[in-house]
Amino acid sequence: MAENLNPFENMIKQVDKVAGMLKMDKNLVACLKAPKKTVIASLPVKMDDGSVQVFEAYRVLHSDAMGPGKGGVRFHQNVNLDEVKALSGWMTWKCAIAGIPYGGAKGGVTVDPTKLSESELERLSRRYVYAMIEELGHEKDIPAPDVNTNGQIMGWMVDTYCQLKGTSQRGSFTGKPINLGGSLGRPEATGRGVRFAAEVAAKNMGLEMKGARLIVQGFGNVGSITAKLMVKECGCKLIGVSDVFGAIYDENGLDIDKLLELAAKERTIKNYVGGKKMSNEEILEKECDILVPAALENVITGKNANNIKTKLLVEAANGPTTPDADKILSDKGVVLVPDVLANAGGVIVSYFEWVQNMDHYYWTEEKVNNELREKMFHNAQAVIDMAKKHKTDLRNAGYMIAMERVADVIKIRGIFP
Ligand code: NAD
Repeated sequence: MAENLNPFENMIKQVDKVAGMLKMDKNLVACLKAPKKTVIASLPVKMDDGSVQVFEAYRVLHSDAMGPGKGGVRFHQNVNLDEVKALSGWMTWKCAIAGIPYGGAKGGVTVDPTKLSESELERLSRRYVYAMIEELGHEKDIPAPDVNTNGQIMGWMVDTYCQLKGTSQRGSFTGKPINLGGSLGRPEATGRGVRFAAEVAAKNMGLEMKGARLIVQGFGNVGSITAKLMVKECGCKLIGVSDVFGAIYDENGLDIDKLLELAAKERTIKNYVGGKKMSNEEILEKECDILVPAALENVITGKNANNIKTKLLVEAANGPTTPDADKILSDKGVVLVPDVLANAGGVIVSYFEWVQNMDHYYWTEEKVNNELREKMFHNAQAVIDMAKKHKTDLRNAGYMIAMERVADVIKIRGIFP
């Protein structure tokens, strides 16, 4: 039977599995699984040539039991409702494991943003907020950047929100540029968090980070920062990287500064001089000590999991490993740090940004990074300890912590009306 690659169905499968392990009440499980609110909108956007194109847009609030919804907005040609529903659910579990007072949400637009001009991208971003205005707000649902969205896009979005609502509440969005109320350390936060999670996991399994052979798939915001920090701060040897155009491999180590320079200048690393070029599929199967998928969902599946030759797999992307692959990797003894733990650095520093916006008092970068480190170390160790206690893997353990926390709050709050 063909493997199910629907991310929402796979997320539900994971929740059902852990609910069974926890012997959770089935009424509570039903509440945990169903997204609270789903909005689909059509966004008509004036193109530069005078024509109008209509794009489909989504905002899903999975849960606001623990606090306002929180989750990024993705611009990608493959965005669809089930992907956004899955991403919103993962945000619920991620915020609960992180111990921050948020629920889970996510948004997206089905668009290939590389085909838009800067002004078309701005009109699309503003139109998204216009369509979703009643869903958003600093106490309701707070978006942030995700794949193909960034600080500038958050700038257009928060401006649209403030103009429409007649407010100056910048805490309605996070991941903003610094001068618009962003937090120092936010652009690097997800990658920095991945590096901290990797460090805790490596220590617990007795893997030396210094000299560890590292492969990173995806060289965007998360992948590039993860690679940079794991090389420069942990002493890992980066032997493979990839982006949407292909992969580069060098067993003697790639030059991280050159890669970062290329990514900043050309927005791709495809013109790196040196190393061996290979396909995105091949690079994942090269032998290494730490593998970090940092691109999109469903890259490690039942088809290729058997060929993965790593000791530690740290999910920087959301949903890169399917349930079939999870089982194969676990049987092979690969330690897998799940997305809901590994990439929580972004939302943790988004929380710090929101707190700073509320307080109108801004932190130093050192304080942001130190607080992030403390949270990531504490949360990673808690998940590892839970896994040991229940003799299970880190994904199940993370879901156990998250689902128990959210279920407890749903029980206390009750069903109203
Ligand atoms: P991004 O758009 O900055 O980068 C994505 C990268 O993946 C690009 O380098 C792109 O070329 C590459 N890519 C796309 N398809 C690929 C393929 N088939 N093979 C190899 N590389 C491919 O996005 P990002 O913000 O870095 O997000 C990456 C992942 O991390 C996503 O799953 C996202 O949901 C997750 N994430 C992001 C944040 C954040 O703060 N940005 C936080 C948590 C999780």
